[in-house]
Amino acid sequence: MPLRLFNSLHRQVEDFSPLEPGSGSVGFYCCGPTVYDFGHIGNFRTFVFADLLRRHLEFRGHRVNHVMNITDVEDKIIRQVAATGLGLAEFTGRYTEAFLADLDTLACRRPHHLPKATEYIPQIIDLIQRLERRGIAYRAADGSVYFSIQKYRGCGCRYGQLVTLDPEAQRRTERVSGDTYDKDDLADFALWKARVPADGSVFWDSPWGEGRPGWHIECSAMSMALLGPSFDLHLGGEDLAFPHHEDEIAQSEGAGLQQPGRPFVKHWVHAAHLLVDGKKMSKSLGNFFTVRDLVAKGYHGREIRFLLLGAHYRETFNFTLEGLEAGRSALARLDATVAQLAERSGPAPASPTATGVDSPFVASFGEALDDDLNVSRAWAVVFDWVRETNAALAGGTLGAAEAAARLADWRRVDEVLGMGSRPAEEIPAAVHALLERRQAAKAARDFATADAVRAELKALGWTVEDSKAGSRLKRL
Ligand SMILES: [Zn+2]
Repeated sequence: MPLRLFNSLHRQVEDFSPLEPGSGSVGFYCCGPTVYDFGHIGNFRTFVFADLLRRHLEFRGHRVNHVMNITDVEDKIIRQVAATGLGLAEFTGRYTEAFLADLDTLACRRPHHLPKATEYIPQIIDLIQRLERRGIAYRAADGSVYFSIQKYRGCGCRYGQLVTLDPEAQRRTERVSGDTYDKDDLADFALWKARVPADGSVFWDSPWGEGRPGWHIECSAMSMALLGPSFDLHLGGEDLAFPHHEDEIAQSEGAGLQQPGRPFVKHWVHAAHLLVDGKKMSKSLGNFFTVRDLVAKGYHGREIRFLLLGAHYRETFNFTLEGLEAGRSALARLDATVAQLAERSGPAPASPTATGVDSPFVASFGEALDDDLNVSRAWAVVFDWVRETNAALAGGTLGAAEAAARLADWRRVDEVLGMGSRPAEEIPAAVHALLERRQAAKAARDFATADAVRAELKALGWTVEDSKAGSRLKRL
């Protein structure tokens, strides 16, 4: 069965096939962050989902060309730049670095291209000029350039491909403000915004005078510059479907750069919202978390990733700290099995793919994700494997070669899940000292002291596992 994905363009699950099957390459674009603050976990739900889809495509042998834009000029950024007195590049550079560090924390593979809007001004201007030449863009009295939805429709193009709605009613809630006075039609949106005093030193020269690009045009210009006028996959949060993505389609197809019969994007894939404790995240409700907030609370990036990967991308996901705790326990079970396999396999080499045939575990896992990224089913396959492997380990029948083969299977599956290894636990010196006291007591056959020290360790959150190889500290 081929990979199947829900395509927002047709509101149905469809087979995924690349536009250029022979090229082996998949053009993959995901709308990136606006860099004026640290990203919150709602943003990162989308990026972790994008990472899962990319990894699964790679697992299936596709060469993914992953592009993510960095919006580094926008109203909120301009306000912050004015407030902080920093230069635009310095201000956005800090938050771009923070964003990339957070992606690393969550084990997301870095996109191959991270174009910044401010570095694509010539391409943006070119695209607007092209729309102007085709009569779809017009300059209004305020000096700004707008996209005419009426003219676009007049060319036989459809506005409203991703969502069925009343665009004019929606447009009133659009985040781009201050551009509603001079345009011909309320539904039109800004491609180029004429410079206003509040912009300070943030402006570029253009054929229409000083100004800056609108938000939507950035993504059209950068995606087509890096992936061509038609590409395979465009991802983003569902809140971006309208107007942002609809406008991307209008600008890109309105420019008429595609070959006849080819769309701007073949598959549009949207990730659903994330709630925290059943509510929309907000600073005033105290349920607003950045990745950094959770790390400061003692959670590891892989635990956050594990939780975010727990729900299907099209389902609203309710994030809770209790969920993170439960995730931590589930992950610990998985880690324990993997650690035992590593111990049992020793240095035995293993290459389960040498035969070219996936084991039933790897095959079932891949099939679950082929089914519109059914992560619940994929995790069920993983935890069935954990149970079955634990039983084999406990039965004592698992030889080194078989353990190594199972470990290699897990590593192959983990190329997609990206859980990585449990980070080496830092054992506090006081805990180490207690372990040594217990060893000494045991050696002296002073079992009362040994037991008392064990209780002390327990109170500190540690347990001792004794085996033939010696004693080992483990977190409770
Ligand atoms: Zn975008």
